Amino acid sequence: AEARRLAAWDGHERIVLGTDTGRGLRAIVAIHDSRLGPALGGTRVWPHPTLEAALTDALRLSRGMTYKAAIAGVPFGGGKAVIMADPARGKTPAMLDAYAEMLAQLQDSYVTAEDVGLTLADADYLKARTPNVVGTTAGGSGNPSPVTAHGVFLGLCAAVRHRLQRGDLSGLRVAVQGLGAVGGALCERLHAAGAELVVADIDPARTRAVATRLGARAADPQTVLSAAVDVAAPCALGAVLSRATIPALRAKVVAGAANNQLAERDDAAALRERGILYAPDFVLNAGGLINVAAELAPGGCDRAAVLERLATIPQVLSEIFRRAERTGRPTNRIAHAMAEERLRAAAPRTARR
Ligand code: NAD
Repeated sequence: AEARRLAAWDGHERIVLGTDTGRGLRAIVAIHDSRLGPALGGTRVWPHPTLEAALTDALRLSRGMTYKAAIAGVPFGGGKAVIMADPARGKTPAMLDAYAEMLAQLQDSYVTAEDVGLTLADADYLKARTPNVVGTTAGGSGNPSPVTAHGVFLGLCAAVRHRLQRGDLSGLRVAVQGLGAVGGALCERLHAAGAELVVADIDPARTRAVATRLGARAADPQTVLSAAVDVAAPCALGAVLSRATIPALRAKVVAGAANNQLAERDDAAALRERGILYAPDFVLNAGGLINVAAELAPGGCDRAAVLERLATIPQVLSEIFRRAERTGRPTNRIAHAMAEERLRAAAPRTARR
């Protein structure tokens, strides 16, 4: 286990720990790979019980960003930050001030944005104190979540076309776990397209609100993904697809927004053996990255260019599904290989700092 932990560290260019006890900051910034450009990735605020758990989360997320940017054709590297705090109580102005100072020290080697627990208002607050923040209101591209949800919707449709040979979603049964910024917006789109929804969030008020508004069935957050549905859409946290959960799935397609849905890479093979088509998360949920990256493009965020790039998500997925079928390999392996091809074609890796 220790060797595996160290290997995860070794794959990273830079890991920065920031603490400010007086102001309540405990943060990790992980920069995985900057061959394609400066590291870009959101900040997660989550009450991880141990430093080990937070570090594991940060390292998995930052690695995922490298592959996400590569496969989405976005000229940025992979990075991510985790702040160990309860998003409801821990985000005091003092803590955010301390975090802004940490970000400022990293200059443009790491650019951050929203993630679970870090809102648009928080991003705006940070941006007023340090320039390396995107996805903000003033002069920025705004909240990336609706764009992420749109990309997930397009990708989900491509997976349904491929696995279920269905061109429309009318009457399609979809289970959504996590009804936050992305999951909630995805539900709206699915509902508008005629899908029947089974929904769950650990916040019961959120579940009730979505169920009432969209005529969806409310379910238990722990078991919602194994409901009797056509598509399971994980939109909460990662590691929900594992040896323990995969045998219980009844969906034929897994397509959702959550990062790092597979507990282990090999879990995609277990999905494949069960005849379940897995749409690799980092391909499907690249919309937010595409949107915030556009903000950093010369000339600023161009909506038409963002939409054009979003439209490549279902195209890339279809290519992954075809290659997976042709080679008999799991979809996530194919997606990683395609991202690696793009990384290898970029400049050689620079010396670690
Ligand atoms: P969010 O914080 O707005 O929403 C997450 C929701 O999940 C919350 O409502 C929370 O209560 C709920 N939740 C947490 N654990 C749960 C569980 N076990 N069961 C059911 N619900 C649970 O976050 P978000 O921005 O909607 O992001 C959702 C996922 O999508 C995350 O994994 C995130 O990393 C990923 N993602 C988000 C974006 C983006 O643009 N926001 C982009 C790419 C990937």
